[in-house]
Amino acid sequence: MYKCTKCGRAIELDPEFGAIRCPYCGCRLLFKERPPVVKKVKAI
Ligand SMILES: [Zn+2]
Repeated sequence: MYKCTKCGRAIELDPEFGAIRCPYCGCRLLFKERPPVVKKVKAI
């Protein structure tokens, strides 16, 4: 799952497909969106 830095839309792309590009605005600057990870933090 990627997110466009320009329009902020979530894009589902396979990195192996080739050039990663936003299909909505054509922006090539996307950042990878990590699935929410629950961090275990010990309470002090
Ligand atoms: Zn975009």
